[in-house]
Parts: sequence; structure tokens; C-alpha cells
Amino acid sequence: MKQRYEYLEKDHVSKVGVRELPDELAPNEVLVKQLTCNICTTDYQQWMGLREHQGYPMAGGHEGAGIVEKIGSAVTTVKPGDLVAVGNVGCGICEACRMGDTTNCENKKGRVPNAEGIYGQFGFADYNIRNERVLYKLSSDLDPAEAGFLEPVATVCKGMKKLRLQPQETVVVIGAGTMGMVNAQVARCLGARVTISEIMPKKLETAKSMGFDVIDCNEKDPVEAVKEMTNGMGVDCVIVAVGSTKANAQALEMLKKIDGRMLLFAAGYPVPDLPFDSNVIHYRRVEIIGTFGENAEDFSMAAKLLSTRAIDVSKIIEPKRFKLDDCQAAFEAASTPGMYRVCLELN
Ligand SMILES: [Zn+2]
Ligand SMILES: [Zn+2]
Repeated sequence: MKQRYEYLEKDHVSKVGVRELPDELAPNEVLVKQLTCNICTTDYQQWMGLREHQGYPMAGGHEGAGIVEKIGSAVTTVKPGDLVAVGNVGCGICEACRMGDTTNCENKKGRVPNAEGIYGQFGFADYNIRNERVLYKLSSDLDPAEAGFLEPVATVCKGMKKLRLQPQETVVVIGAGTMGMVNAQVARCLGARVTISEIMPKKLETAKSMGFDVIDCNEKDPVEAVKEMTNGMGVDCVIVAVGSTKANAQALEMLKKIDGRMLLFAAGYPVPDLPFDSNVIHYRRVEIIGTFGENAEDFSMAAKLLSTRAIDVSKIIEPKRFKLDDCQAAFEAASTPGMYRVCLELN
């Protein structure tokens, strides 16, 4: 059968290609009719020319969801009609996978080109054949664009584990973009008291509408605001959800004097600095924690958070949706500052 998919060449123009998928499924394979795929920062920044290391030709997209159409003879965990999203859980047999670090799988799909020399996970495609083991079933009453948050939510679950967040703790999330809002929601789910600092009016409104305390950086210096809020004490944790030198500097100042923890959730291009000296980190016993990626356990936790609606991602999906043939316009929209996730409709 034919698969229509989006891909990028070095010219950074998004095109639609057609390739042949096998008509027969192997015993553990599943034919998924893709409904949607959201455009991740890693996708649109490559389209912008900021992530040349990701490889070309790139059939990107990894935040997709769809309906199971057909299953192979040995498949037992999903059935036709189920809503599924893809968790890139690695090969399972390389050294990294066996250590539980599936993000760094040596054979990871998308990191190495496929037999046709194409990189990526073919998320922006109308049909896909996937191995049963990478599919996560989600509640069928979710909007597929919400189910497509499986991977971003999983990366947040990974970050929360690394941060070792406790229910009584205070957290500031810097940045109310898509990933800032997912971080804020998962932190709140875990019992933390969460405040979000942001500069864009649209994002401030979204954060407020979801019941968060916000710091409007247009009105107040965010560091001063955090000091006021905490009687000069600072907060236990700061999650930096924007890749910026200024945000990194603010995070340190927002933290409590001793034993504060800073989670660097976002990458930035151009690369941001950590604008403080190591003696400060030493004397204040600050923990600077990096996070990236996720593993099978994080995908499971994310699937549950979404399916039970413990978190709500409906407000961080842009209402205007795009078709596969409009992928160039979709990338333009996704890369416009202030946008939440832009969704491609694939079927
Ligand atoms: Zn993503
Ligand atoms: Zn592996």
C-alpha cells in the first residue's frame, strides 16, 4: 500500500513524498491509520535550519496518534479501533536499552537512516506500520491531538523523576509555552505548589485559565516577585522551560539560599550560557539537573496522565489545524513565536 509522508531536504522546504508500505503485516506489526501529528520544536527548528545535526532527508514527526486498522497474527495488546500513540522505546537489546536508557538506544528509529536512507519516524504520514511494542493505547475519548502529547508528557515525567519533586515543595516554571505548561501541570499533579513566570500576554492568559499563579514579567521583575511571594526565602525548585541565558540567571536567583534545584528542561539555539560561577553552586549547594528524552516507564506514566485526564493539554494545541499538503504553512505557523502545538491532520 502507498504511504504519503512529509519530509525535509537540506533546502528546508517541507514536501510530501510517497513510498510503498508492505501489504502484509509481520506477526507483531500493526497498521495504524494516523489521525494527527503535532509539530515538535525539534521538527520546526530543523525546518528553520537550526538543527542540521538531525540529518536529511528527514521524515519527521513523533507526536502522532491514530487508530489501529489491522493487526498482525501475534498482536495481543491492541485491536482494530483502538486509539494509539507511538512511544519510541528503543530496540530493547542494545547496551543502552538494557540499562533502561532507551533515549540513547544505539539502534533507535529515526536516529539512524532507514533502508531507503531516510531519517525520522514518519510521524507526518497518513499510514504507518509499527511494532506492537512501541504503541501505547490511550483513552478513545481523547482528541487525537491530545493523545499526540504522549512523548512530550513522557519527557516531563522523566524530568520530574530526576528533579525528585516532593508534594510540599514550591516550584517556579519559567516560560508558559507548550512544555512549560506540561511541566507545570505534572508538577501540580505531584502535589507541588506551582507558579509560572511568562512575558507573552497570550501565554499568561492560558496559564491563568488553567488555574496557575502567574508572574507577569512585564509588570514585575520575576526574581523580585518570587522573593515577595516566599517572604524572601526563594523556592525549592525552578524548572527552566525556555532555552535562554537570562532565564538560567533568573532561576538561580529564584531558588532558596541552600539546596535549591534547577531543572534545565529546554535546549536553546543559539546555545544559552549558565551565567554564574561555580563557587556559588558550591556554597549554595545548588543542584543543576539536566533532562532530555524518556524511557518506556515514562511513556506508561504519560499515557495514564493523559488517559485519566489528570492533566489537560487541550488548551496548548492551536485551534487552527493543517492538512498534510499544507505542511509548509504548518511549519510556518509552528515556528511563529507564541504558538502552542500546531497539529497536522493526516486522515
Ligand atoms: Zn517532541
Ligand atoms: Zn536499543
